[in-house]
Amino acid sequence: MNMAQNYRDNRTAWRRCVSAIALAMCFCLNIVGVQALDSESGAKRDDYLDTILTDTKGKVFRYERMPVQVFIESQQLEERDACEQAFSLWHEGTDGLISFESVSDKAAARVLIKFVSLPQRTEALSNTASDGGHTLMEWHFRKRVLPFVGHRRVRVPPQIVEVNMSALDARPTSQRTFVLRNIIEHELGHAIGLLGHSPDPDDLMCAKTDENSKLSPRDLNTVRKLYRHKADVYL
Ligand SMILES: [Zn+2]
Repeated sequence: MNMAQNYRDNRTAWRRCVSAIALAMCFCLNIVGVQALDSESGAKRDDYLDTILTDTKGKVFRYERMPVQVFIESQQLEERDACEQAFSLWHEGTDGLISFESVSDKAAARVLIKFVSLPQRTEALSNTASDGGHTLMEWHFRKRVLPFVGHRRVRVPPQIVEVNMSALDARPTSQRTFVLRNIIEHELGHAIGLLGHSPDPDDLMCAKTDENSKLSPRDLNTVRKLYRHKADVYL
């Protein structure tokens, strides 16, 4: 997994968050050392919103309205089915707080899901890991509003989820469906505002996922908590 953020503060300033999921190893560059365990009680925390907000420098990114309109850039049944399953899992897990709608009008979509073949990481970076996908999100300041960042003063183009189909090549057929669905489900988590990762491998939003990953109570608590916050940037 890698995640990078760049900032350029001028009148045309933009911010870009790139996050990616690794199926084998975690390469998130921005994960801060926040542990899943409470330092005093030693118990696992109920959520990891503090980690997410550390990665976004305290800013809350989330949707204002549901459902989130998604354009699936594929006619392949396997790929479309995986998307629909991922939509359902988020919807059911959050009791309808989060919902997605597949739309045929690409221009109306707020999230585009693409199926691509991303290049292998270089040996120096990869330790043989391959990325399952990543979510690209940009937002642009409008004129002369720095340094305040208010949701009415930024423009956020549709987010782009790129699912790396190369990551499935080495997977047995029995795992393929689950890996694909979990990659998409994880990336949708980024798309709805979870712009960082959980440090706990039991959570779907951990940088390291596999065919057995699934939304955990901590994932769901985190997204519920996020959506109770006032947004700094509406997606
Ligand atoms: Zn990720």
